[in-house]
Amino acid sequence: MSEKLAMDGLPPLREIIEKHNLAAKKSLGQNFLCDLNLTSKIARYAGSLDGVTVVEIGPGPGGLTRALLMEGAKKVIAIEMDPRTEPALEEISNHHDGKLQVVFGDALKQDMQALVSGRTKIIANLPYNVATQLLLNWLEHNPWPTWFESMTLMFQKEVVERIVANPNSKAYGRLSVICQWRCDVKLAFTVDKANFMPPPKVTSAIVHMVPKPLSADAPSLKSLSTITLAAFNQRRKMLRASLKNTLPNAIDFLTALNIDPTLRADALPVEGYLKIAKAYENLED
Ligand code: SAM
Repeated sequence: MSEKLAMDGLPPLREIIEKHNLAAKKSLGQNFLCDLNLTSKIARYAGSLDGVTVVEIGPGPGGLTRALLMEGAKKVIAIEMDPRTEPALEEISNHHDGKLQVVFGDALKQDMQALVSGRTKIIANLPYNVATQLLLNWLEHNPWPTWFESMTLMFQKEVVERIVANPNSKAYGRLSVICQWRCDVKLAFTVDKANFMPPPKVTSAIVHMVPKPLSADAPSLKSLSTITLAAFNQRRKMLRASLKNTLPNAIDFLTALNIDPTLRADALPVEGYLKIAKAYENLED
């Protein structure tokens, strides 16, 4: 082991990985970031962490965790599935006066809100196998706006492109509508494969999402899901055809809402989906 310490006074990440035998497991979506300059850049994108509790999913050997603490987070609550990381994370916690609390288990099964109090941000390099489901769980939270101020998340670049996509693009779909309905979304920057150990097959990207208030006449997530699922499942068809089995008389229904029934799913902006979902919901009452 080298004597050289990283900028936070702890051993370099590659040494930690070697010392604790943290060979990456594919089944856990493990691709580790080893450059504290890069993880600090991610942490800074979330804005000031002064007085903020950060929820991190999947700290692994702690590359992003260390940056969050260096950038001044009041506390980091990290949820990790892999018990092999315990000694590495304990070392970080001791170095930072216990500001790091690690919960071992499956993030999908955690009541995260119960773990935090005060101002909270979610910042994570998400395990790819559960990333979209975690995001949808956070977006589905009621009441809204919710227990976190923002989410700064790393996904595969294609997923981020879907989250931020505009109408009339190939990436525009259900995920774009649901994310942009509930949050202001921004692609922060992309991260090349070469920055990971081991390098994944695809490029990654960071998205920054800030919950925004819902309007008084917002539809339920359930009806929005029903409508977007039907529309985008047949995205090349006109809405009058793709929504035929969901709406009673699709052409009249859409025309009454001032929505052109001959549009295809990817041409209708988010507001259009909200209008249809609300009217559909009123129909069910
Ligand atoms: N944050 C580290 C980094 O940036 O180097 C590791 C990120 S790695 C892409 C994903 C991490 O999530 C791994 O440490 C993995 O063990 C963990 N993980 C995988 N599935 C999980 C789950 N369901 N709940 C909590 N952690 C999980």
